[in-house]
Amino acid sequence: MTVISDVKARRVWDSRGNPTIEVDVILQNGARGRAIAPAGASRGTREAIDLRDGGPALRGMNVSTALNGIQTRIAPALIGMDVQDQQGVDAAILALDSSPLKSDLGGNATVATSLAVLHAAAADAQKPLWRHVADHYGCVPSLPLPEIQIFGGGAHAGRRVDIQDFMIMVPGADSFDDVMEITNEVYFAAGDIMAKRGKLAGVADEGGWWPNFDSNEEALETLVQAIELAGEKPGERVVISLDIAASEFGKTGDYRLALEDRQLDSGDLIDLLGRWLDAYPIVSIEDPVAEDDVDGMREFTARFGDQVQIIGDDYLVTNAALVDQAIRDQTCNAVLVKVNQAGTVSESIDTFHAAQKQGWGAIVSARSGETEDVSISHLSTGLGGGQLKVGSFTRSERMVKWNECLRIQDELGSAAFVGGAPLAQTWWGKTNQKDAQK
Ligand code: PEP
Ligand code: MG
Repeated sequence: MTVISDVKARRVWDSRGNPTIEVDVILQNGARGRAIAPAGASRGTREAIDLRDGGPALRGMNVSTALNGIQTRIAPALIGMDVQDQQGVDAAILALDSSPLKSDLGGNATVATSLAVLHAAAADAQKPLWRHVADHYGCVPSLPLPEIQIFGGGAHAGRRVDIQDFMIMVPGADSFDDVMEITNEVYFAAGDIMAKRGKLAGVADEGGWWPNFDSNEEALETLVQAIELAGEKPGERVVISLDIAASEFGKTGDYRLALEDRQLDSGDLIDLLGRWLDAYPIVSIEDPVAEDDVDGMREFTARFGDQVQIIGDDYLVTNAALVDQAIRDQTCNAVLVKVNQAGTVSESIDTFHAAQKQGWGAIVSARSGETEDVSISHLSTGLGGGQLKVGSFTRSERMVKWNECLRIQDELGSAAFVGGAPLAQTWWGKTNQKDAQK
């Protein structure tokens, strides 16, 4: 047994220039682990709440209260605990905060500490983090299928378009490296097309192009053209994935597409997305309706669940109980796993497993506010059979995570890239069906 001998927290800064929390966990044998809390912009109302100081300084975003809570409350509880007992460590953190959404200690404090303990446990076991995760949780490691943003929108691009993420996936790639190469071609092809048409306004929060489109669908049309310009046939090796993030423009079945000056009810939005599913090679769609629109989610899943991956992000907030409920309600068929939505590693992995045992997809995800922390590259690989959403293909807080997967590929071998097997099967099944109907 290796005991935690110290927990140190400091303020560092994230990709949006906001303060965030870094934690070092130091072990009695000198090994250590470090992690940094990310931060979301389009947050679900039921996710763990970051503790910020408020007030005029640093736009209210400072984290001194949360740092103080780590030093005075979390550290004393954890010092002396077995670093390999992640479940026990996370339970000890939870026992300190009786608020429903971890607002007392702050999800930013709990997630940085919990992840730093996981890193320290891997260091103690003298294993890379992905290997430690696979061994500790009894998983078969595999490199994830990336979901990579080409255009940003919604809360990540000043709401310039209503839909938040226009992404590609490359289930037809031969290796993780191959995904990176194809993505580079598509990303820059999209930028060239937009620049030529005066539609390029810069780079959004997650590194995707900040678009100047006149409609949401123009983004989809442009994405298809970019895939073609990159020398690919849309829907073959390269497919499209969307995060609608509908809670950002709708509530209780009432939706406003500001860019197009259109008001939609839940049925209208579902019909619109259904038309896009018919017209474009979309294989995955996240939060198609708002987090409180359970009927809309059920209808969307009933109509399209057999042909497309339907991910709950704001809808499920990395909560295993909500995944179980969604399984009973037949809403969604996949979950986004953001460790800071849950607030601890153990709760996030419970959520991943709750989804996987049902045959659901599980996509480990970054937040729009990120740092050099690469924990999620290791988590998605170690847990196996999954997908990884990190943002786009520029900016170091994104690229550091893709690059870490390439290093893991060297350790694990390129055969460990399974191309997001369950998703790929759905997709190939769908294209074959279409071909058979012709
Ligand atoms: C998302 O909605 O999937 C996302 C990554 O954005 P944020 O971190 O702003 O919630
Ligand atoms: Mg989302």
